[in-house]
Amino acid sequence: MIERISTPSRTKQIIEENGFYFKKNFGQNFLIDSNILEKIADCAGIGKDDCVLEIGPGIGSLTQVLAEHANQVVAIEIDSNLIPILSKTLEAYDNIEIRNQDILKTDIDAIIREKNANRPIKVVANLPYYITTPILMDLLENERNVERITVMVQKEVAERMQAQPGDKEYGALSIAVQYYCDAHVDMIVPPSCFLPRPKVDSAVITLQILPERKVTTTDEALFFRLVKCAFAQRRKTLLNCLNHQGNFGLSKDTLADLIRSLGWDERIRGETLSISDFARLTDAVAQAISSHM
Ligand code: SAM
Repeated sequence: MIERISTPSRTKQIIEENGFYFKKNFGQNFLIDSNILEKIADCAGIGKDDCVLEIGPGIGSLTQVLAEHANQVVAIEIDSNLIPILSKTLEAYDNIEIRNQDILKTDIDAIIREKNANRPIKVVANLPYYITTPILMDLLENERNVERITVMVQKEVAERMQAQPGDKEYGALSIAVQYYCDAHVDMIVPPSCFLPRPKVDSAVITLQILPERKVTTTDEALFFRLVKCAFAQRRKTLLNCLNHQGNFGLSKDTLADLIRSLGWDERIRGETLSISDFARLTDAVAQAISSHM
């Protein structure tokens, strides 16, 4: 077996030898626990036929483990200082492609098309915390051809993904994740497993993309517009959120009638609505819009 990049001593050596400085604004907390890395590959269920997209390879600790389990790995790294380091640490592997890009500006569909003949890929990452939500929302809402996502995130974000109506953490991310996936927290990871140490616990979460949505709605785009609108201002009622931010072309009275017609109190708040409630709301709003046109 090729020497692990992820041991604390090897990681420190690579960093010192290359004069690398951690950039806080890129969320650089590198994993220094080989057991955790193996468990991540296990939880991702990677096999020899798989094409894996890794977001933020750092110095290649996770990339190395992924490459040993997968057919090929495409790793997107924003920090140009890491690219020469990666080409040295991963030189023994011929199934890894490193791209120096911002994942938020990367054409993920093109990678799936070119690297995996449009068959579904797996996404695995120790995510930079500052873009966790935009990355996941992009993969889910744009329905990228991804079958499973296994990511390290802040523990609080993993809790948000699993939150239920009425929970403090319940929001647009909870709904997007639960609408498209079955979510499962695989493990909690303490700060001592990273260099430098983050301030909070992390969690590895696996999102298995469902072949069919948990609820059906007549208009998916409107569904997500309503979800975002309902959570835009948490202390406001659903009625006020829809009225002030919705731009649906419906009067406040019409919206109040619509809310009552669903059997809800006019003062109901968005954070108490389940995914099926949002689907019912979507259908009612779609119908009201078409009858007011
Ligand atoms: N995978 C490595 C590990 O587990 O040790 C590093 C993980 S570190 C938490 C996050 C990595 O994502 C860093 O290497 C950082 O430079 C990179 N990164 C941050 N923002 C990015 C972006 N917008 N696109 C691609 N990579 C990014």
